[in-house]
Amino acid sequence: HAKSKGGHNYQFFNESMNRNAVRRLQVENQLRQALRNNHLRVVYQPKVSLTNFNYVGVEALARLQIPGVGMMSPIEFIPLAEETGLIIEMGEQVLRQTCRDMRHWLEQGHELGRVAVNLSAKQFLQPDLTQRILTILAEEQVSPHALELEITEGVVMDDPEHAITIMTELNQHGIQLALDDFGTGYSSLAYLKRFPIQTLKIDKTFVDDINAAERDRNMVASIVAMAHNLGLNVVAEGVVNHDQAATLSRLNCEYAQGYLFAKPLSSDALLEQLNAPALIH
Ligand code: C2E
Ligand code: MG
Ligand code: MG
Ligand code: MG
Repeated sequence: HAKSKGGHNYQFFNESMNRNAVRRLQVENQLRQALRNNHLRVVYQPKVSLTNFNYVGVEALARLQIPGVGMMSPIEFIPLAEETGLIIEMGEQVLRQTCRDMRHWLEQGHELGRVAVNLSAKQFLQPDLTQRILTILAEEQVSPHALELEITEGVVMDDPEHAITIMTELNQHGIQLALDDFGTGYSSLAYLKRFPIQTLKIDKTFVDDINAAERDRNMVASIVAMAHNLGLNVVAEGVVNHDQAATLSRLNCEYAQGYLFAKPLSSDALLEQLNAPALIH
């Protein structure tokens, strides 16, 4: 206990940690309520081809709608959702909602390519993950071939052998895999060679200074070349200006995401964009 460590620590506990604990409890309650009351929302950020700027797919991103407050970002609730285990229920709700929206887009005549959903560490550790996902897809009548899962390096490097087993299983059912936020975690190149993934997503932090810093540009060039040598697709994250897009294209990066092309959009807003695509040149 903090108290047994002396007055100074006790005071620290009182003021700063207590406030933190209250905030965490608040977010946890908001998350529980949102899951119970169907207040979880999913927005979709398009991925574009850097050759013709066509949409090639979208990524589903979770939002929490707090009544009277507004939308809460996953940055705020994902870590807590992980700790409390609520992430399992949340992740399944995101996947189910995404499937429903995919069916809606299809009915409206839009074939959006693959739709990517992010997977958390806890979800990934479930031994029956593949079955759980296949069940949701079957219930919502969506083909596994229409789904891509994004996992971060940290998730797969925690237990690489187990990760390879699960990833192979998912692949065998037609689900594609992308390594998210690539370059920010630690992936051993030996494992990268063995992971049954189809796509590398270069983290935004490398894209930010791609024109300002030669080192960042060289880094991206190397990642793209390595990915292509391994037969992987490359997506650059967080592209905000034309110069970045042009440099990425010159470095042979074929796909990108970012505010330059589109922010995350509600299902309806996405359909509107698709009906009136704004081409960027
Ligand atoms: P991520 O998967 O790397 O998603 C990209 C994040 O960058 C998203 O933030 C997106 O809105 C933001 N972004 C995209 N383009 C730009 C840009 O040009 N500039 C800037 N500044 N930001 C951009 P978001 O939606 O807040 O999500 C943050 C992270 O939370 C995601 O990172 C992902 O790791 C996690 N996350 C989101 N939804 C889910 C989910 O349903 N399940 C799980 N397990 N994690 C999720
Ligand atoms: Mg992602
Ligand atoms: Mg990412
Ligand atoms: Mg990222």
